[in-house]
Amino acid sequence: DHGRDNYAFYDPDLHQNRRSSRHSTLERALHHALDDNQLVLLYQPQIDLESGQIRGVEALLRWHHPELGTISPTEFIPLAEETGLIHAISDWVLRTACAQNSAWHRQGHTTMRMAVNLSAQQFSKPGLDQLVHEVLLDTGLAPRWLELELTETIALRDIDAAISTLKALKSMGVRIAIDDFGTGYSSLSYLKHFPVHSIKIDRSFINGITTNSSDAAITRAVIAMAQNLGVRVVAEGVESEKQLIFLRTYQCHEVQGYYFFRPLPEKSITQLLQRQSEK
Ligand code: C2E
Ligand code: CA
Ligand code: CA
Ligand code: CA
Repeated sequence: DHGRDNYAFYDPDLHQNRRSSRHSTLERALHHALDDNQLVLLYQPQIDLESGQIRGVEALLRWHHPELGTISPTEFIPLAEETGLIHAISDWVLRTACAQNSAWHRQGHTTMRMAVNLSAQQFSKPGLDQLVHEVLLDTGLAPRWLELELTETIALRDIDAAISTLKALKSMGVRIAIDDFGTGYSSLSYLKHFPVHSIKIDRSFINGITTNSSDAAITRAVIAMAQNLGVRVVAEGVESEKQLIFLRTYQCHEVQGYYFFRPLPEKSITQLLQRQSEK
């Protein structure tokens, strides 16, 4: 009935309707998420392998909706980007994370680093460096204790613009990390031009380091490259002791993953830090 080029193996309208119904429900709900305090940050520790100490945390966003339950950032961040809500949400994330780290610093944890994820739109919006500057002033956090994480894909969208934004941030003293390293359209030459302080090896490689020889080889090569470039290297998604032993053997600088800690609420991190400084 739809003509010779139109075969349908499932009902595309039904599929589309279901998708867009969840989509528009979430979209409507997301407009209230900030004002109704439904967004929270969890913090996942990053551990220095040499000292065994927590060097910093990564802020990870959660949306707890009273009826819809907890919605994953992988679902609502793209939605926030589509609707433009991403700007208000990411401003809140940056401010909240910096204020929290500033509080930890005032409690005596004076070398705690806070990593914040940047969305594509947040990164390409003009004035990011001024915004960061303002938030640091308002919250009293020194720039070197803030690290901004961005993916290769984000940075490579407009390389010249990215380089100038990153340079501005770097000259303020803020740290830059390349997230999900190895998964994007990676052209290694950009590492030469991008002023980055750290590289985060994507979880998909770490997942296979003890079972898959390619994952092991890639991870070893990335660690060696980072060391030669004088860049810190962080392994993401470490889930087992075997993986940890591998990473220690090849002298990865830092690790992050469920084997150590899941993303935790502020209070749990405060307790961990207190215990660490009592040792
Ligand atoms: P990401 O930046 O790559 O964050 C790491 C993700 O891996 C987090 O998922 C974290 O909970 C999870 N993870 C950490 N350790 C392990 C592990 O050992 N095993 C496994 N299986 N997973 C682990 P989460 O919190 O669901 O965040 C997903 C993504 O959403 C993040 O990926 C990031 O791209 C985005 N995201 C989260 N918070 C923010 C935010 O505040 N702003 C922006 N723009 N994006 C965010
Ligand atoms: Ca990240
Ligand atoms: Ca990542
Ligand atoms: Ca990721």
